[in-house]
Amino acid sequence: MNTILPNGISNTAFRSAVKQFTACVGEEYAFFDDLDRASYADKFAIDDAAHHPSGALAPATVEEIRALVKVAAEHRIPLWPISRGKNLGYGGSAPALAGSVVLDLSRMKKIEVDEANGTVLVEPGVGFYDLYDHLQTKGIRLWLSVPANSWGSVVGNALDRGVGYTPYGDNTARICGMEVVLADGDLLRTGMGALTQSPTWQLYRYGYGPSWDQLFCQSNFGIVTKMGMWLMPAPESVLGLDVEFDRPEDLGPLIDTLGPLRREGVLQQSPTIGNWLRAAAVVTTRNQWTTKPGALDDDVISAIRKKFGMGWWGVSLRVYGRTAVARESMNIIDKAITALGPMTLKRTTWKDGDDREAIVGGVPMTFPLQSANWHGGRGGHVGFSPVLPQSGRLAVEQFKRTYARYHEFGMDYQGSFAFGERHLINVNSVLLDKDDAAMMKRVDPFLRTLIADARSNGYGEYRTHLDYMDAVAETYDFNDHAMRRLNERVKNALDPKGILAPGKSGIWPAVHQREQKS
Ligand code: ADP
Repeated sequence: MNTILPNGISNTAFRSAVKQFTACVGEEYAFFDDLDRASYADKFAIDDAAHHPSGALAPATVEEIRALVKVAAEHRIPLWPISRGKNLGYGGSAPALAGSVVLDLSRMKKIEVDEANGTVLVEPGVGFYDLYDHLQTKGIRLWLSVPANSWGSVVGNALDRGVGYTPYGDNTARICGMEVVLADGDLLRTGMGALTQSPTWQLYRYGYGPSWDQLFCQSNFGIVTKMGMWLMPAPESVLGLDVEFDRPEDLGPLIDTLGPLRREGVLQQSPTIGNWLRAAAVVTTRNQWTTKPGALDDDVISAIRKKFGMGWWGVSLRVYGRTAVARESMNIIDKAITALGPMTLKRTTWKDGDDREAIVGGVPMTFPLQSANWHGGRGGHVGFSPVLPQSGRLAVEQFKRTYARYHEFGMDYQGSFAFGERHLINVNSVLLDKDDAAMMKRVDPFLRTLIADARSNGYGEYRTHLDYMDAVAETYDFNDHAMRRLNERVKNALDPKGILAPGKSGIWPAVHQREQKS
């Protein structure tokens, strides 16, 4: 076996663990040959060897997971749980620590919908497409909030704080109750689920005493085997405005106009303002525009904008719900946006019974994935996503700094500003060509520079690729990293053998301290 073994594990110990693991799930669901390992690697990685798994296991039940955790603890082999492992741009299905065994939960696909209360209880393997199909086939009048690439799972996306674009777009905030296997194999239900057979498990988030759901998000404290989510009641209407703005600096007034409407609740959805590359990168390739290396110049940008009728920035705004209410809200939004003098402005109308739009209409799609092919060759993307205040001035400053860095490092700018209720997330995508060695050399220093720039302005990332988990954790430095100390104390208490996802979000158990490399 040509494996990368977990640090400190002998070949003999690993073989004996694999035998025991296989006995838990059956031959068919234990994956330890080279092709298996390659399938679970990070296809978009800058250096995927740093995150090569030693194999993967795909249990189908909670009891199998509990048995696997016990074997892992006996041999001190780290497990890296994934739901569907489509976390592309953040590491895909690969682990932070090379040699970990991926715990692939994609076979666990149970869905229990409570239509009357607008909730669902899903297992980790339930994809957005699975849940969408389930609701459609059964005629259940509830809508999903799907991310722009909806290939992944409902559970994995919410755990990693992914977002969608309906009023329920902050997927993590819609979690209500979880079932979790801990590192010692114990099985826990959070919130009202801590009462045996509670009819309110998916209805009241906090339970009694400390509330744990969010502690299992972006952490390595447990393996989530079920998750409750709130779903949006199907609206009567969705009224929209698709708007384009001509100049880079139009970003500021646009943010200062949308922010108050969002906070007031006139705009309930979380819109994303994106630049001109968002269409070109999915329907064309770079060589159709230019063969010049370095960041795209102004002539190419103008050509792209002309071809697609786009501004420098564009945004799709949508209002959902009762027609009478939506109409009034949309009139208020339209008036505020029109006053800014947009380049183009288009109203959209959807009413119950019409075909729904992808993404903003809660219909999953994978089309945006195509942007990985922008350079041709073996493509990919890595994200850089700091959290900002909802301030036009600060957003423009952040944009200008970042845009200058894209030029300095010779990369094509793909940026967006996504609204939350009180914050903005500035998602920057770095589109890669893995066959361009010179470019690949620039990507890592580029991303580290962006992290440092953000930090020196008081900003931290909300989520990051495996390669930068330590570097980002390092920026959260109040009182000499008190947050990291707390995370590690909890980690060491719950998982003293360090078998669950060591390194996730920069949280290293004491037994793996040596692996840190920020
Ligand atoms: P998706 O299914 O949307 O592709 P992933 O399975 O890639 O999402 O999950 C994203 C990240 O969330 C993983 O890398 C892992 O760190 C964490 N994660 C996913 N599923 C679980 C789970 N069931 N329990 C604990 N952590 C998980």
